[in-house]
Amino acid sequence: MNKLAVITGGTKGIGKALVEKFASEGFDILTCSRKEADLESLKSTIYKLNKNVAVSTCVADLSAKSGRDALLKNYASLNRTADVLINNAGVFVLGQIHNEPEGVLENQIQTNLMSAYDISRGVVPGMIAKKKGTIFNICSTASIIPYVTGGSYCISKFALLGMTKVLREEMKEHNIRVTAVLPGATLTASWEGVDLPQERFMKPEDIANSIYGIYSLSDQTVVEELLLRPQLGDI
Ligand code: NAP
Repeated sequence: MNKLAVITGGTKGIGKALVEKFASEGFDILTCSRKEADLESLKSTIYKLNKNVAVSTCVADLSAKSGRDALLKNYASLNRTADVLINNAGVFVLGQIHNEPEGVLENQIQTNLMSAYDISRGVVPGMIAKKKGTIFNICSTASIIPYVTGGSYCISKFALLGMTKVLREEMKEHNIRVTAVLPGATLTASWEGVDLPQERFMKPEDIANSIYGIYSLSDQTVVEELLLRPQLGDI
């Protein structure tokens, strides 16, 4: 039987590159997003890429507890344990702490932090029972650097890195590897409208290939943090 990768937010950007990479390596996939049409289109892309893998999708808004529950219900219905969980779904909202509208922080905490918290809590028990599994949380350079144009985003990503560090310690004795991935600027829909040359960004495929490489190391090795930046530096 194929291995199973659960990847949140798999229809665009880094998540889509991850789905394509793991599917091309023979993993069955469970993914989600808020748009059914995008999920259907992803399914046909993956079918063309590798007919020997199964792709399960779920329309779910992970900024809401109900959406997170819907994804976990879908996962439970597969009656399998994920070999890999990648908490990727996230949003970036431009803004500053001192003057952004109310709710900007709450929305990003729900989407960027609580989704990873709840989905991990749903998936980890099966991994513990198997004494095997790998979890990647897609943090950001905004997890270690204060960006004045994304204050609440930074808060959510600093918190996600903190959660990842704690989960890493909790999971040690259970033989489950936990990795924080900290990409800098990567060319995805998140950057729509920004007028900069493509060379200033990393490619989503580079993030996906790096993550797959880390996954492929022996069970004796965990990469606790992976920091990736555009060759020309931060934007
Ligand atoms: P993206 O291109 O905007 O794609 C985000 C994916 O997540 C899409 O599939 C999107 O689908 C889904 N998603 C967003 N909000 C969701 C929600 N509430 N519920 C369910 N699915 C949701 O983003 P990206 O740039 O690839 O970013 C992916 C991750 O990398 C994020 O955590 C981001 O913070 C992080 N990151 C990105 C960069 C960068 O420069 N791009 C740098 C550092 C870290 P729908 O919108 O259809 O729901």
